Amino acid sequence: MKIVYTVIVTVLLVACSSNTKDLSRKTGDDTSPNSSGAIALASPVAGISGDVGENKAVQDVLVTRASERVLKAARTVCQTKVDRAGPKEEGCSFQVFVIDDRRGGAGYRANKIKLSREFLNRLHGEAEVAFIIAHEAAHGILSHRHNVNSLTRRRQELEADALGRELIGLAGYPTDVVERFFERLAQSSNSATSADPNYPTFAQRAAELRKSPP
Ligand SMILES: [Zn+2]
Repeated sequence: MKIVYTVIVTVLLVACSSNTKDLSRKTGDDTSPNSSGAIALASPVAGISGDVGENKAVQDVLVTRASERVLKAARTVCQTKVDRAGPKEEGCSFQVFVIDDRRGGAGYRANKIKLSREFLNRLHGEAEVAFIIAHEAAHGILSHRHNVNSLTRRRQELEADALGRELIGLAGYPTDVVERFFERLAQSSNSATSADPNYPTFAQRAAELRKSPP
């Protein structure tokens, strides 16, 4: 049964890859830190709330806007880290892709951030979209690796949550949406990754963020 399931998932992923859409823009060339070394703040974003929903055009607009702001902040923070610690193997440019996938959530590999439309459908507002992008970019900034044990994986997730929240703040989004996002997920019973031992539970993630407010 498990083998059959795996094959189906693989076929779905292959079938969907041709529908991948790159929604990121070239960012970052104008984002060098100012003379005081502080990171330039983006202007605040007008509040967009409510469900993202399944309309692809709406999803694309929200992802494009959120990517533009978040990737700019991510690049600046990444560059600051490079300036301190030396060059980063994969550089500091990130790209966001939206995948027509009925499964899965978001993922990161080699500076490429992938978001599934099904996952976008379940998010509330542009700030949550921004946080998902920021969380995945944070994995890249922090040079997190994929093949690590579950203890390290759980630590990496909490680190990416904290830096992701910082990034959306720099991008001009309200940071309190992050804790609320995990609290909401913790309350929904069909939260797949909550039962995955490789990940902290959503309740743990909310609690961790509460311990160190932005
Ligand atoms: Zn993660």
